[in-house]
Amino acid sequence: MSTGPVITLVRGDITDQQVDAIVNAANSSLLGGGGVDGAIHRRGGKAILDDCRRLRAAHYGKGLPTGQAVATTAGELHADHVIHTVGPVYSATEDRSELLASCYRESLRVAGELGARSVAFPAISTGIYGWPMDDGARIAVRTVRASAPASVTDVRFVLFDKAAYGEFEAALAARP
Ligand code: ADP
Repeated sequence: MSTGPVITLVRGDITDQQVDAIVNAANSSLLGGGGVDGAIHRRGGKAILDDCRRLRAAHYGKGLPTGQAVATTAGELHADHVIHTVGPVYSATEDRSELLASCYRESLRVAGELGARSVAFPAISTGIYGWPMDDGARIAVRTVRASAPASVTDVRFVLFDKAAYGEFEAALAARP
């Protein structure tokens, strides 16, 4: 029986993580933005943006669709890959949870393809895109438990602040 990856919570900045793959809460342009995206491009350097530009030109003329994931170099970060995924903007009137789950699932699928064993995630969509942290944490934990490939053994959620850390702690403690 598969036991799934070890899931740990880290309070801090995702760009400080030493892992095989760092997931970026990107926007569909892949050309950088605020929040995690800005931090990753700033610390990772130009090589990431160059890769993103190539991907846009070759495969994603209209941008990377919401819920999908794609990998680039990690540039100067302490990682081998950055996996860019586009979270949904939160809506109070439309249930977009499946798209948020898809971000985690697709990022893990890409990590598996790359042979990455350790993966660091931010709390996708919970910043500029407005997703409530408690619900975002539940979806993140549930989806990682259900869909991590066997080759991914270490999943870290890197939470920027105490409140986010607390919500992920609660989601981890709740049995599936
Ligand atoms: P989105 O557009 O998907 O909402 P954001 O980058 O605005 O993405 O925010 C996603 C989450 O990441 C938020 O909870 C935010 O507080 C957090 N965050 C912002 N910068 C960092 C960072 N450097 N490391 C880890 N988490 C971060």
